[in-house]
Amino acid sequence: MNINVTKAFLPPIEEYQKYIETIFKRVWLTNNGPLLNELELKLKEYLQVPHMLFLSNGTVAIQIAIKALQLKGEIITTPFSYVATTSSIVWEQCKPVFVDIDSDTFNIDPAKIEAAITPNTSAILATHVFGNPCEIEIIQAIADKHGLKVIYDAAHCFGTTYKGKSVFQYGDISTTSFHATKLFHTVEGGAVFTNQPDLLKKMALLRNFGHTSPSTFDGIGINAKNSELHAAMGLNVLKYADEIKAKRKEQWNYYREKLISLDVKFISITEGTDYYNASYFPILFKTEEKLMRSVEALNLQGVYPRRYFYPSLNLLNYVNPTSCPISEQTSKIVLCLPLYHDLSLEEQDMICRILLRIQNN
Ligand SMILES: *Cc1c(COP(=O)(O)O)cnc(C)c1O
Repeated sequence: MNINVTKAFLPPIEEYQKYIETIFKRVWLTNNGPLLNELELKLKEYLQVPHMLFLSNGTVAIQIAIKALQLKGEIITTPFSYVATTSSIVWEQCKPVFVDIDSDTFNIDPAKIEAAITPNTSAILATHVFGNPCEIEIIQAIADKHGLKVIYDAAHCFGTTYKGKSVFQYGDISTTSFHATKLFHTVEGGAVFTNQPDLLKKMALLRNFGHTSPSTFDGIGINAKNSELHAAMGLNVLKYADEIKAKRKEQWNYYREKLISLDVKFISITEGTDYYNASYFPILFKTEEKLMRSVEALNLQGVYPRRYFYPSLNLLNYVNPTSCPISEQTSKIVLCLPLYHDLSLEEQDMICRILLRIQNN
C-alpha cells in the first residue's frame, strides 16, 4: 500500500447511506436543498462565523469573491500558493502582481506590499499557506490606507483561529475549499465567508445565475451551487472534524519531535494564531538536490510526499514575468510529508527513519 501525501477521510458507508436515503425519498437533489441549508447552519456554528455560502468548489469561490467586489486592474498576490489563486485572478480579467513571501511563514511578505501598489491596484489576494495565518493586521492597515479590498484564499484553514476568531472572518471576503484532499471535505466543494451582509447577498445571487425569482434576474451570475449529495458528505464528515483535527495535531507534533535533528527548516506559525490546524507538514531542505534524494528514497518505499507548491506562480506562462527569489527558492526545496487521519505511528516512524538515514549517508 502506498503512502500518499494525503488521503481523503470517508465516514462509515452505512452513515452516508442514511443521508442518501433521505435524498432519494425527497427527490430534491440540488438547488438550495435542505441538506445544503443544514450544512451551512452547522458549519457556521462549528466555525463560529456569522455568514457563509457553500459553493461547488474553492476555485469558483475565489472567482465569485473577485466578481462580488467588482475588482479591476491589478491585484497584489502571493506567488507561493496553489495555481487556483493566480488563475482565478487572470480568469476574472485582472492582472496578478506578485509580492515575494516571508522565508519563515511562507506567506506574502507585508513589508513588500506597498512598493507594489500602483494607481491601478484594486485589491490584495493573499493565501494563508498551509493553514498558517498571514500578517492580517498589517495587511488590513495597508489596504485601509490605500483603499484596497482584501480577499484571503483560506483553502487550507479549516479550524484555524487567529486572535480569538476563525481566520475565515478576516478580509472583506475569505474563501475556502472543501476538496477531498483538504482536512474537512465534501468531495468537491468550497465556501465564501464575509461579515458584510451586502456582499453576502451579492454572492448568493452570483452563485445562482443572478436569479431573484424563477423568471427575474439581478445582474449576471454563474452556477456555483453544490448538491445535496455533497452536502450529505459534508454533514457526515463534520461529525468527525474534531477527531480529524486532533489526530493531525498529534501527527504534526510527532513529526516535529522525531525530525528535530533533520537538517531542514520547519514552518514558523504566525504570532496571534490561537489554534493552528496542522493541515500540512512542510519541510525545507538546504538544496533541491537534497530534496530529490530524499524523495527518491521515500518513493522506493512506496511513500509519495508532494512538492507543495511547485513551481512558484510568478513563473506561470500566462503572467507577466517578475522576480520573486524567496518564493522561487522555497518552491524548489519544500516538501510536504504525508499527513492524514489514519496515517499510523509506524508509518510516520518509517518516513522519519528514511529521511534521517539519507541525510546521514
Ligand atoms: C485546494 C486549493 C484551492 C482550490 O480549491 P478547489 O476546491 O480544488 O477548487 C485554491 N487555493 C488553494 C491554496 C488550495 O489549496
